[in-house]
Amino acid sequence: MRAAVYPGAGQPLRIEEQAVPVPLHDEVVIKVCRCGVCGTDLHATEAHSEMPAEPGSVLGHEYAGEVVETGRDIAHLKLGDRIAVMPLRGCGRCADCAAGRIARCLNKAKQFGGYAQFARVQELTAVRLPADLSLQDGALVEPLAVSLHGAAMAGITPGCRVTVLGAGPIGAGAAFWARHLGAGHVTVVERLPPRQRIAQAMGADRVLAPEAVDPDESASDVVFEAVGRPGLLGAAMAHARMGATVVSLGFCMAADPITPAMACRKELTFKFPTGWSRRDFEVAADVLAKGTVEPRAMLTDVVGMDELPQAFEALRRPADQCKVVVDPWG
Ligand SMILES: [Zn+2]
Ligand SMILES: [Zn+2]
Repeated sequence: MRAAVYPGAGQPLRIEEQAVPVPLHDEVVIKVCRCGVCGTDLHATEAHSEMPAEPGSVLGHEYAGEVVETGRDIAHLKLGDRIAVMPLRGCGRCADCAAGRIARCLNKAKQFGGYAQFARVQELTAVRLPADLSLQDGALVEPLAVSLHGAAMAGITPGCRVTVLGAGPIGAGAAFWARHLGAGHVTVVERLPPRQRIAQAMGADRVLAPEAVDPDESASDVVFEAVGRPGLLGAAMAHARMGATVVSLGFCMAADPITPAMACRKELTFKFPTGWSRRDFEVAADVLAKGTVEPRAMLTDVVGMDELPQAFEALRRPADQCKVVVDPWG
């Protein structure tokens, strides 16, 4: 099979021929249909990354595909099942694994490998797609589950005011879920015009460039930081009103100092969500399957395997793109 291998920082992904994986007893092998490229992949492959990707590994954690082989102990999945993947393996024995909160399992491990034609997937982490949801859309479930998890932790109440900093896939997703959960007014702060349009399409009431923002005026009940660069937590605090909640969704991998006294002055609550739960995956898949069109606005390009290395590098610079997915068979 063909796979995109990460050779190490500073080098583009390399397309290689690899053996089709064989499932372990608790795994299935899927034929990958689509896999999204994520900002986390880009950060993890930068020189001096705080959470570096392993050279020689196959990245890609936003993937969906069809079960083509099952391990010896597979109880629930069968050949032909269409699944989205929670891209972390769990121990399978703790209370969090039992509740579908794999991201909280103390013995979790990465389960990447979506930039390939086939991938091994632990059964525990497979989420069956609704019958009327395409595998192509299945690759959007993971990023939507991330933003849903954050929106749920934010405690959005009917009519509340929300500000989202950044309209990449996660920020645009946060705007969508905020709207979906009943927010009264959603402001998105984003510099790039193509992403501004996506934020609008996904449910923002207004989209502003950072220069155009007067933080005093926004005074939001919930502020999402969805950029992931140092300085953004402080910026998010400036948008918050008294007693507000600030949600860190940008997964910033560098130190981002804040001044606690400034947070105290507004009695802010900070939330640092990690990943998603099985429930988040199921809800995101359901919303897509019901035909809700807004989340699909984030999808800006589909590339074939040979185009992936170049598309991956291009995403390191501010671009017209939002969510780019790879078709490993294309
Ligand atoms: Zn991701
Ligand atoms: Zn566990």
